[in-house]
Amino acid sequence: MKTLQRTLTIVKPDAVKKNAIGDIIEQFEKNGFHILAMKMLEISQHQAEQFYAVHASRPFYHSLTKFMSSGPIVVLALEKENAIADLRTLMGSTNPANAEEGTIRKKWATNIEHNAIHGSDAEDTARYELSFFFAGYELTQ
Ligand code: ADP
Ligand code: MG
Repeated sequence: MKTLQRTLTIVKPDAVKKNAIGDIIEQFEKNGFHILAMKMLEISQHQAEQFYAVHASRPFYHSLTKFMSSGPIVVLALEKENAIADLRTLMGSTNPANAEEGTIRKKWATNIEHNAIHGSDAEDTARYELSFFFAGYELTQ
């Protein structure tokens, strides 16, 4: 049986500044992702710290959360069969130097930190991240 899965993606501040929102959303739709919900907003560094709490002990935590709160972002709830893994494939490697041709990071990332896009990496993180940005009533379609 085919089961739909949901994942959370963020067009990061670097990609918004590069006017890449439209191109990235087009990639989602062309690759079979259905957009359940979407919003553009800015988050504080404290909010970014909550979102990335799993990385709190990493050396890049402070810099990453500062970057994520440096300007507008676009957050989307996406739905598709195998959405979590398929989005990770479409995104490409964290470090754009290793990102595969045709991926979003290959096209838009500047470096390993300013890498254009976030995507949930597992079912539990997808649940946490979707509920971080969207209330249940926003995901009812
Ligand atoms: P991904 O976003 O591919 O899941 P991670 O979860 O490992 O990657 O890291 C979260 C984010 O932290 C990355 O997307 C990137 O913005 C930043 N990051 C990861 N590794 C580094 C690093 N070595 N130096 C600076 N920033 C990093
Ligand atoms: Mg990750």
